[in-house]
Parts: sequence; C-alpha cells; structure tokens
Amino acid sequence: MRTCEIEGCNGKYYAKGLCSRHYYQRPEAKAWRREYQKKYYQRPEVKEKTRKYNQRPEVKERMREYYKKHREEVKAKAREERDRKKYLKYVKLNVAKKEMKECHNAKLEKEIIKFSPKTQKALILDGITLENRMKELKKEG
Ligand SMILES: [Zn+2]
Repeated sequence: MRTCEIEGCNGKYYAKGLCSRHYYQRPEAKAWRREYQKKYYQRPEVKEKTRKYNQRPEVKERMREYYKKHREEVKAKAREERDRKKYLKYVKLNVAKKEMKECHNAKLEKEIIKFSPKTQKALILDGITLENRMKELKKEG
C-alpha cells in the first residue's frame, strides 16, 4: 500500500505524495479552508445563527468566563484586529488610489510605527506588507 511521504507518518496515501491529514495541512489547503470559512460566516443566515447563538445565556456566561481567564490575550487580539483594520483602511486609501507611490517616506514611517512589530509582519494584503512597501519605497528613492 502506498503511504504518506512525511517521515514517521504511515498514513494511507491521499494525494500529492501525502496522506489526507498532511495533504490538508499544506499552506494552500489552509488558505482554501480559510477562504471558504470566511465566505461561509459572511452568509446572512449564518451570521444570524451565530448572533442568536451568542445571545444564549449559557454561551454569554462561557464567554465571560473565557474573557476573565484570557483577558490579556483577548485584548491583544482586539488590538491586532484594530491595527489590521487601520492598516487596511490606510492601504485601501493609498494603494487603491495609487497614492502610495506619492506618499512621502517620512509619512509612511509615521504610519508604520503605529503598529506592533508582530502586526507589521502579519499584515499582508496581496503580498504587500508595510515593511516590504517601505523597502520598495527606499529603493525607489
Ligand atoms: Zn502523513
């Protein structure tokens, strides 16, 4: 029987030399799943279902408990999300309008320091991070 190519894994062959578990762990597969999930959770009937679920008292209680235990984590995530939105807004404003090129380096630098290093690295839109854009801008002079 053909098995998975990953060392130490004897999983049944699925595709691309891998078992199904390792096949779906590939970055592309993860990206597809994320994309699918995003679309799924944006459907109005799903949104409504989620909203109703979150209003159930036992769910609210569980969320309160979770928040108590993971306060800093939750806060950090919210901060990241806020930064991401800020960034997207900024990029939309500048890249979409092709104003980024005209954007003065000094101004861009000021924008960048608003974000935590982790966020700066994580922020990717069409493969463009502020960091990379900065490098590009520096090259362009
Ligand atoms: Zn495997």
